[in-house]
Parts: sequence; C-alpha cells; structure tokens
Amino acid sequence: MRSDGRPAGAPLRVGVVGGGVSGLVVARELARAGAEVTVFEAAEQLGGRIAGTELAGRAVDVGAEAFATRGGHVRELLTELGIADDCVAPAPLGSWLVDGTDGSAAPLPPAGTLGIPAAPLSAATRRVLGLRGALRAAAEPLLPARVGRGSETIAELVHARSGPAVLEQLVRPVTLGVYSAPPERLPLGVLPGLEAEVRRTGSLHRAARALRGRTSAAGGAVATLRGGMSALVGALSRAVREAGGELRTGVRVTGLDTSRAAVGAGTGNGIGILGTVGDAAGSSELVRVDAVVLATPESAARAILGLPAVADAESTVEVVVLALDRAHPAVAPLVRAPRGTGALVNAAAGTPRITAKALTHISRKWPHATHRDTELVRLSYGRDGAAPATLGLPDDAVRELALRDASAILGVPLPDDAVQGLARRTWRMPTRGDRAPITPPAGVLLTGDWRSGAGFAAVIPAARRTARELLTAHGVCAHAAPPAPPRAAPHDPTPERHSA
Ligand SMILES: Cc1cc2nc3c(=O)[nH]c(=O)nc-3n(C[C@H](O)[C@H](O)[C@H](O)COP(=O)(O)OP(=O)(O)OC[C@H]3O[C@@H](n4cnc5c(N)ncnc54)[C@H](O)[C@@H]3O)c2cc1C
Repeated sequence: MRSDGRPAGAPLRVGVVGGGVSGLVVARELARAGAEVTVFEAAEQLGGRIAGTELAGRAVDVGAEAFATRGGHVRELLTELGIADDCVAPAPLGSWLVDGTDGSAAPLPPAGTLGIPAAPLSAATRRVLGLRGALRAAAEPLLPARVGRGSETIAELVHARSGPAVLEQLVRPVTLGVYSAPPERLPLGVLPGLEAEVRRTGSLHRAARALRGRTSAAGGAVATLRGGMSALVGALSRAVREAGGELRTGVRVTGLDTSRAAVGAGTGNGIGILGTVGDAAGSSELVRVDAVVLATPESAARAILGLPAVADAESTVEVVVLALDRAHPAVAPLVRAPRGTGALVNAAAGTPRITAKALTHISRKWPHATHRDTELVRLSYGRDGAAPATLGLPDDAVRELALRDASAILGVPLPDDAVQGLARRTWRMPTRGDRAPITPPAGVLLTGDWRSGAGFAAVIPAARRTARELLTAHGVCAHAAPPAPPRAAPHDPTPERHSA
C-alpha cells in the first residue's frame, strides 16, 4: 500500500475537471507520466474560452485569438505538440488609439509594456499626451527611485512615476483592452518581472523597455495559429488521448466526496467525483479517483468544493466579428489604408460615442487571414465593472451597434449592405480582487487563469506546475512511465464532439 492509499503497482487515477487549455495541459502531463486520467468537461466541446466558428465561409476565433510569446512557454508546448510551424506573427503595422468620446484617432506610440511610451518626446507620443504630458513622462527616469515605491496597483505606480497623462491616455486603454480591467484593479504582479525590473533600473520606463525587449527577443509580442487557436485544442486533445487519457464532454461536475480520501499515510478509498451527464437530473458518482484537479473558473471551483460564492468573481465580455464585403466601395479604404492591425478605445471620460473597448482588424493583422472576398473585423465589449453594451441585445441591434463602432474606430463609414455576416459570443473573465484564498481538501489541486493570471503564456506553465506538484505528491516521476495505450471511452456520450 502506498502512502496515498493506492495499492502498490496500481496506476494513479486522476480526475481533471474542466477541458479548457489548463485542464488539457494538466491531463496531458499526467497521462504521459502513466497516470490514468479522465477529463470532465461540462460543455459539449473542449477548449473553454477558445472557440472557433464559421463566418462567411471563413474560420474565425470568437474566443481567445492569439497568445503572448513572452517566456516561450506557448511555443515550447506547440513544438512538443508538433504544430509550432503553424505559428503566424502579426503584420508589423502597429495599432491605433481612438478616443471613445470624440472619435479622434492616432497611432499608438511605440511603447514598452503596458503602453508606457518608449520615446516620450517623439511626435507620436506628443500627439497623444500633449506637450505637458510628454515632458512629465520624459522626466520619469530622473525621479528618485523611491517615487512610487509601495504602490500596489499599476494605476498607483504609473500615476506616481509617469504622471496622469500616461495613465489616462495610454496605460488605461491598454489594460482595458488587454486585461479587460482598469489599472486600479491590476496588482503589479499582473506583469511578471515588472517589480523586479523597476527595482533594478530605478525607473518604470526603463523597466517597461527591458520587459518589452525580452518579449521581442522571444519573437514578437503575440502570435496565433494558422488554423485559429482551436488548433491548439485539437492538438492537445489528440495528445491526451494518445497518452491514454479519456475526454468526457457534456459532463458537469457538481461536487466531490472526499470523506473516504487518503490523508497523509492513511489508507483511503479515493475521492468520488459527483456530477451530471448530459441532461440527466440529479448528481451521481461518476468515478472514484486518487486525486482531482479543478481546472474550472473560480465560481465553478467554489461550487464544486461547497464554498460560498464570491460576488463579481467574473465579469462578462462579448466578442462580435463582422464579415464585410471587400467588393463594396465603402470597404475598399479599409484595405488600402487600415488603422494598423486595429485599435484600442479610450473611453475614460464623458459619454462614450464608441461602446466597444477594442477592435482587431483580423484581415490586416494576420497575413494568413487575408481573403479576396471578405474583410473581417472583431470588436470586444465589456470589462471588469461594466457589462458589454451588446449584452442581451438581438442580433440586429448588435449588428447596428458593431457597425457604428467599427465605422468610428476605423474612420470609414460602413453601411449595412457591406455586411456579409456576424458572429458573436459572450464569455466570463476572472476579475481581480481581494478574496480569501481557497484551501482545497487533501488530494485536490486548483489551476486555471483565475489563479495564474489570464492568457496562455501564464496558464500553460501554471498547469504544468500543477501536474508536477500532483505527481510529486503521489511519488510519480514526470514522464516516468511510457504512455498507457488509449482506453476505450465507454462512458463518453460525445467523444468526438470537441472543437478540434
Ligand atoms: C474573448 C476572450 C479573448 C481572449 N483572448 C486571449 C488572447 O488573445 N490571448 C490569450 O493568451 N488569452 C486570451 N484570453 C484568455 C484565455 O482564453 C484564458 O486565459 C484561457 O483560455 C483560460 O483557460 P482555462 O483552461 O484556465 O479556463 P477555461 O478556458 O475557462 O476552461 C475552463 C473549463 O471548465 C469547464 N467547466 C466549468 N465548470 C465545470 C464543471 N462544473 N464541470 C466540468 N467542467 C466545467 C468550462 O466549460 C471550461 O471549458 C481571452 C479570453 C476571452 C474570453
């Protein structure tokens, strides 16, 4: 008998709850180390917040659309999965900043991370910040290192060191667009290495440049996959199955029975995973395992563990993709003179004329997405503390709103008859706030972007760490055993229904 209650020689049985990237990465790592792994996914498709759809005959991402190249973690996984050659870098057009109140627009000045200007006195930066704001920003490296020390949020640090113009005109639209959160809600840790670099260089601007330099050295700030981000879900799912893991979709986990779990050196009879399959009423025990990884959003993890819900643990965002007819005369200027790869909207003050927070000009940003008949633009709505203006509206109203926003952001009036089609999808995103940390019961581990920070560059290494932690706790070496042969999936009602 092993210390975790498993009979000697018995494989480690693990249930992974959640079939997004976090859950799939954990499952792959565990299955490769010889564990008997089952993934339970509530939706009918795997992938979580990665989802593709077809629009005007084109495959488009309506969830996550790219990944940050920082740290090289995503690239490393793609290489292991054999799909690194499908990586695509964005066109080097830069992006724009649009004032959501008066509609004025300017190219986003060359910046270090977070939109902090790399050249505060350049014409591009002065255009956005005004002369006074630019001079204040230029003075930042000359300020004593103690200025801003003790700041807890990005807003506090930027305001103290770079001044209000940099905070309001550059950093705020960037954090709202990238993190769906205002800088007041972002702790310094949102950007790994920022605090250490500020300490090392004595300057926020030097730190931002240094962090950007590292990203660029890793091959540019973002990239995507030729087949859309769904290609990652397909490759990961295949890898899990090939390593012997089982993927069950349409299974909602509702609770855990930990009453018979082994604790310390006790002999236990495992953890029961309770849930519902498809439309079945009432929970039943789905399986008994030695360990569980909860790779769901925070609200689901709390519900499964029987913990009280936290108000506003997640905010809602909506993605709207418009397919525009390239042959329409109104669309031609978008192709000839695009506003870079897209724009961030600064809607800090006044009554916003533009309700979207950002626009990606898909067909200009990604060279592989260019098409002779269709021009694709993607708008994002909603953020921490503000529901999307599109939420709950019928498609016709969303089409009208998105077309008006796209026209204002791109500086080109787009008529309704230029629209070939629309795709939309709402999502929940973790918010950041002070809440008591969760201490899961023995044998249960937590992972996901609400713990690691959003985005694949954070989620993937965190999921790998979770898998390693679990294997170590159960005395299994990572990759110790050859992968088990694929198991049949007798309980899987929809084994092929994933988004690959
Ligand atoms: C619109 C949008 C755009 C984004 N763009 C980017 C981007 O460009 N680059 C980037 O790096 N990141 C981006 N992100 C963030 C990125 O998508 C997430 O950080 C990442 O996908 C999180 O993965 P995850 O596996 O932790 O969570 P999820 O993908 O949310 O997976 C959790 C899974 O758990 C399942 N689940 C929940 N409850 C249960 C239950 N009770 N039983 C069983 N299963 C359950 C859910 O159905 C879901 O599939 C974007 C996110 C959104 C919404």
